[in-house]
Amino acid sequence: MTICAVCAGEARGFGYVHRLQHDRYPYHRFCSLRCQDVGSAIAQRNNGMIDKTAREAQAIRDARVLFAEALTDLGLMAPFFNRTAADIDRLIEAAVTGYVDSMLAQGARKERTGTAHDDPIPF
Ligand SMILES: [Zn+2]
Repeated sequence: MTICAVCAGEARGFGYVHRLQHDRYPYHRFCSLRCQDVGSAIAQRNNGMIDKTAREAQAIRDARVLFAEALTDLGLMAPFFNRTAADIDRLIEAAVTGYVDSMLAQGARKERTGTAHDDPIPF
C-alpha cells in the first residue's frame, strides 16, 4: 500500500514530480486533490522534496494543545503536568500511529456494504 506524502493516509492515484523530471526528483503520491495541491506547493518551494519528518514533528507539537485540553477536561492534567515534552509527544505519536495504521488496514479491506476501496485512478 502506498502512503500519501502529506497526510499519511492511503494514496489514491494523485501524484507530483517536480518539473516532471522523473530521473531527477522523487515521485510523491497523494490521497486526494487537496493533498496533491498542498504537497506539490511544498515540493515546488523545496526543490522537489517534501520533508515529511519535519511536518510530522510539527503536527505532533501542534497536537499538544488539544491533548492538554482533553487532559484538563478529564481531570487528568496533574499526572502529566511535570512530564517532559518528549513524553507527551510519545503519547500523541502512539495514538496517531495506531489510528493511521488502523485506517490503512481498514482501507485495504472491503466495507461492510461490499464497496471496495479500489476506485479507478483518475488519470
Ligand atoms: Zn493525503
